[in-house]
Amino acid sequence: MSHDPNCLFCKISQGLIPSQKVYEDEEIYAFKDINPAAPVHFLVIPKKHIPMLESAESIDAPLLGRMMELAPRLAKEQGCRPGKDGGFRLMVNNGADGGQEVYHLHLHVMGGPRPWKK
Ligand code: AMP
Ligand code: ZN
Repeated sequence: MSHDPNCLFCKISQGLIPSQKVYEDEEIYAFKDINPAAPVHFLVIPKKHIPMLESAESIDAPLLGRMMELAPRLAKEQGCRPGKDGGFRLMVNNGADGGQEVYHLHLHVMGGPRPWKK
């Protein structure tokens, strides 16, 4: 598994920095956002250090697919209503113009009763 020793989210996925864990398997880690923008707001990350979308390679496609596939299941477990009447927002901030602050690829999963903070 390739980690960047200076990367915040690599440290979180390895348990070197505490987080509120939502899910973990061999390849993926999910944890609550420290500054939630919605009643449910957690991040899904690959354990492998992938800084941003353009750093991902073809070999990473199944991993990225699994992260998306996990989102509805974890969203439901975290209190989002399932299906068309409920749901959630999936967001990837990519690069400076995309508002990315932490350069370890992550999916924001946001949901719960509206209105949200932003
Ligand atoms: P962005 O890179 O713009 O997608 O945003 C990074 C996100 O990581 C923000 O929503 C932060 O609130 C969140 N964040 C930063 N540090 C931590 C941390 N130690 N634990 C949980 N979430 C964090
Ligand atoms: Zn990292």
